[in-house]
Amino acid sequence: MEFHTTYSENNYTIYVNNGILKETLLKYTNQYEQVFYIIDSHVYDLHEKKFKDFNNVIKVPRGESFKTIENTMSVIDELLDQNVKRNDLMVVIGGGATGDGGAFVSSITLRGLDYIHVPTTLLAHDSAIGGKTAINRKQGKNLVGTFYRPNAVIYDLDFLETLPEEEVLSGFGEVIKHAMLDGQESIDALLEKTKNGVDIKNLNAFILNGIRTKMYYVSVDEKEDNLRKFLNLGHTLGHALEYAFKLKHGAAVVLGIIGALYISNKRYDDTFDIKSFINYVKHIGYDLSPLKNMNATEMIRYMSSDKKNMRKSYIGYVVLREFGQPELIEISTSDLETLLNELKAIV
Ligand code: NAD
Ligand code: ZN
Repeated sequence: MEFHTTYSENNYTIYVNNGILKETLLKYTNQYEQVFYIIDSHVYDLHEKKFKDFNNVIKVPRGESFKTIENTMSVIDELLDQNVKRNDLMVVIGGGATGDGGAFVSSITLRGLDYIHVPTTLLAHDSAIGGKTAINRKQGKNLVGTFYRPNAVIYDLDFLETLPEEEVLSGFGEVIKHAMLDGQESIDALLEKTKNGVDIKNLNAFILNGIRTKMYYVSVDEKEDNLRKFLNLGHTLGHALEYAFKLKHGAAVVLGIIGALYISNKRYDDTFDIKSFINYVKHIGYDLSPLKNMNATEMIRYMSSDKKNMRKSYIGYVVLREFGQPELIEISTSDLETLLNELKAIV
């Protein structure tokens, strides 16, 4: 399957399928004199055979630990030492963290190198779409970065076979989010297909749908002035829980989605059957104890410091009028505290 972005210029293709890495990469690498491969070291160890023909491989610390100024600068130094040229290509292979850091390196080295992202996690069906690059600082995650589009995304789903369950569930959080943003039919189909657990082999259709949904939002609003904000469904509370309880991103998003459904029900007419959604997520393996044990005041403090919140004493919150109909509302911190305490009691 191929998706094509629909920006006014600098469009690129997103290839998604099993077993496509080698032949798809060749279409691009042939056009460059030099290609540098930046690969998550853990992914390298697990999939070494796939990379045996590659020259110029730079292995980087696995996952989130790559997203520091020191580690990204040391890759830039290595590229410069190897005499990288403005018309060379970088291929970044790994999950969302390697993608964020590798894309950041590509965007600033010699003021911007061409790059291709090869995502290797389920969560990356989200992070690889949208052209945001990032590294972390001690003040918070993703606070330094650029907007920078790749020349292609090659999502070879064979990589997902080695993902541990914890990473599958993390990525699946964003799959649920995209289905809810898409509409009733999508979320019904997803819940039905996964009612006995999440098997990565059954997810291709939902991954494709998630990519389509994300592409829609980022193509209408790349810089997050309005509609792209809806992709933050589940993320306001999710980020606070992720930080406070050191959760995997998507696992925190699932808890945040429960929060969003609860607030949506309070705001509108009890549209959502929260009890059965809670039972479903427990059944497929998510731990709900952070939601039960959270300190509402502390959560609100984290939410207020989020870079996406502009107004003091109010928190921007994405809710759903119904599936497929997101809305951004502002809630006063005192109302939100009450709602979060009520939510704790029903989990
Ligand atoms: P990740 O890159 O940290 O990968 C998670 C773990 O899985 C790592 O330990 C990694 O080594 C391992 N791994 C990767 N591929 C594997 C495979 N095929 N088999 C076995 N293990 C594998 O992170 P992620 O969960 O993919 O993504 C989270 C990151 O994405 C965060 O840094 C987040 O900020 C970022 N993100 C970015 C955007 C964006 O728009 N740019 C959106 C969402 C998330
Ligand atoms: Zn997310």
